[in-house]
Amino acid sequence: MEPDWDVIVIGAGMAGLSAAQKLHAAGQRVLVLEKSRGIGGRMATRRDEPRQWDHGAQYFTARSAPFRRQVAIWLRANLISRWHAPVYVWDGQNLQASTPQQRFVGTPKMNAPLRAIAASLEIKYSTEVTAIKATAQGWEVCAGQQVWQMRQLVMAIPAPQAATLIPPAHPMQAIAASISMEPCWAVMLTSDQAINLPFAAAFINEGALSWLAHDSSKSERTGQHWVLHASVAWSQAHLEDTADDVIALLVPEFNRLLLQWGQAEPTYSRATAHRWRYARGNIAAPIIQSAESGLVVAGDWLAGGRVEGAYLSGLNAAESLLAVFAADVDQ
Ligand SMILES: Cc1cc2nc3c(=O)[nH]c(=O)nc-3n(C[C@H](O)[C@H](O)[C@H](O)COP(=O)(O)OP(=O)(O)OC[C@H]3O[C@@H](n4cnc5c(N)ncnc54)[C@H](O)[C@@H]3O)c2cc1C
Repeated sequence: MEPDWDVIVIGAGMAGLSAAQKLHAAGQRVLVLEKSRGIGGRMATRRDEPRQWDHGAQYFTARSAPFRRQVAIWLRANLISRWHAPVYVWDGQNLQASTPQQRFVGTPKMNAPLRAIAASLEIKYSTEVTAIKATAQGWEVCAGQQVWQMRQLVMAIPAPQAATLIPPAHPMQAIAASISMEPCWAVMLTSDQAINLPFAAAFINEGALSWLAHDSSKSERTGQHWVLHASVAWSQAHLEDTADDVIALLVPEFNRLLLQWGQAEPTYSRATAHRWRYARGNIAAPIIQSAESGLVVAGDWLAGGRVEGAYLSGLNAAESLLAVFAADVDQ
């Protein structure tokens, strides 16, 4: 029986959509399966009208030629913009400007460029893949009672989640299982008063926080909306806390820093928290995957642990599958 699809991509984050875009452009019949209700994965924006906060990825940089080309296209289409606001570093004693670099953000939301990619793709949302298995024609993917057949498969999800789905005999299973990804608690705040700091965001190298940002300083955002990220150590120690407990502990940390920087303690009209169980992770040394089995794995954790790495790993996954596809045609 002819498979339903040429390729199924599991995960509609940057890695999955970068792979799907490349495969679709090459003429493959591609279906993307995504467990949540929207796209973007960790390039996420929490909305609570009229408020919004980018509570996952804060910005991204572009160093490699392929990603710089993609960024240029998104800039021209006004899907992203440069975040010019000053970013500082706090070491517990001093505030200093951080190393200057070009920072990009999706506009008006972090996932805007991914929404543009998704517009030309077939995506099934609220569909959590629960099992995969090899078949004579390629692969079979199950999400509860739903089953799809396809020739090739891209698994573009965080390593610990990939490790539970990849069959034990596949070489990528042990690699995915060996990667531990670090958690991050994020707190989203709306202050009633303007907070007048000389910077829009800061890396924090002491205490419970690792980052804070005036999210509304990004292009096409307004208001007094702030994002706090806890450090890895703090997030690990408080992994199973409730969101309310996390807010009760991290907001005073923010207030303590504001007082140290000469600001009065603000009042907040909104405070919510989100736990990223698998925020970041990275493989120690790059690996070259074989696509012969028809299954390739993609994700930031395979290529540097950032938005750019996710994009590049998706591109690599797609190119390796296309090479196998072309070799099959030649036979
Ligand atoms: C708090 C935080 C701050 C960050 N800050 C930055 C930053 O400033 N700059 C930067 O470059 N990067 C940052 N990152 C990292 C960046 O967000 C990631 O590198 C990138 O978004 C990862 O993309 P991905 O496609 O690999 O994975 P994801 O974005 O995690 O996408 C995976 C997708 O797969 C879906 N999925 C998972 N399991 C299944 C399943 N079984 N079935 C179907 N779908 C499934 C998920 O719902 C998700 O949509 C940050 C991340 C976090 C969490």
